[in-house]
Amino acid sequence: MTVRVRLAPSPTGNLHIGTARTAVFNWLFARNQGGEFILRIEDTDQERSRPEFTQNILDGLTWLGLNWDKGPFFQSERLDLYRKAICKLLDAGLAYRCYCTPEELEEMRSAQKAKNQAPRYDNRHRDLTAAQRAALEAEGRSAVIRFKIDDNREIRWNDLVRGSVVWKGSDLGGDMVIARASSSNAIGQPLYNLAVVVDDIDMQITHVIRGEDHIANTAKQILLYEALGGTVPEFAHTPLILNPDGRKLSKRDGVTSISDFQNLGYTAPALANYMTLLGWTPTDSTQEIFTLEQAAKNFGFDRVNKAGAKFDWDKLDWL
Ligand code: GLU
Repeated sequence: MTVRVRLAPSPTGNLHIGTARTAVFNWLFARNQGGEFILRIEDTDQERSRPEFTQNILDGLTWLGLNWDKGPFFQSERLDLYRKAICKLLDAGLAYRCYCTPEELEEMRSAQKAKNQAPRYDNRHRDLTAAQRAALEAEGRSAVIRFKIDDNREIRWNDLVRGSVVWKGSDLGGDMVIARASSSNAIGQPLYNLAVVVDDIDMQITHVIRGEDHIANTAKQILLYEALGGTVPEFAHTPLILNPDGRKLSKRDGVTSISDFQNLGYTAPALANYMTLLGWTPTDSTQEIFTLEQAAKNFGFDRVNKAGAKFDWDKLDWL
């Protein structure tokens, strides 16, 4: 079986150091396994996606030496595929139209908050009768598409970094929206979790390597793989990059994109070397200076840390 991994950045900003580090781990694993590294631009969010960010991402990856074998593929060119999958879920009764208005959803959340409950969609439109649906449509309401989530399900996977992970269906926030609102019979803009699973099945991705902020998405996506009849890939959730104070690195920290580092005069080999060490320890832990090719030779998830990786400017300056 050919190992196939992908990087799936959203072009809503310049290439972020967190995405670049995810790219490094994907690249190292693909090269270590003699596999393929696919680049997919997740630009379904037309309002926030910009071509200049896509260009910045491609330039940044190229500058770092993270060459890809296939792509870039653009999700905005693959909408038909997602809509087909949504129709399949609707036809199978695994998804349905939900006509709730933003006001009704807000009311639902306030009521839950008043009872100290976590916010969730209460699945109220899951079993509408044809007559109820027709009445809501007659009011001129638009509908999102929701995918049914069984509260009683336990979702399990063996994460290559974190080991055994168990997630309860009831902790996923109720039936999830997979397409934005649209008028009665049309299907609105497909959303992230659906598009990503359709693509990962279509591109025969064997290993999904991404930041641990996607763990809850993974639980939802496993349910979608099953519903769409796809093979569930292996997952590796890598620790987040933290600022020197131990909090998630954010825009407030100032220097967060690869272009920022370039502007400060850092070189590609030093930055690639540093990102490799952010969360990964080589077999010979005394060896700190290496190229991506050298790191790829002994890269494995067994030496990727579970804890967040604190950004260390002194170390980067030293490399
Ligand atoms: N577009 C998502 C992101 O940039 C991709 C997550 C994934 O790898 O599935 O975070």
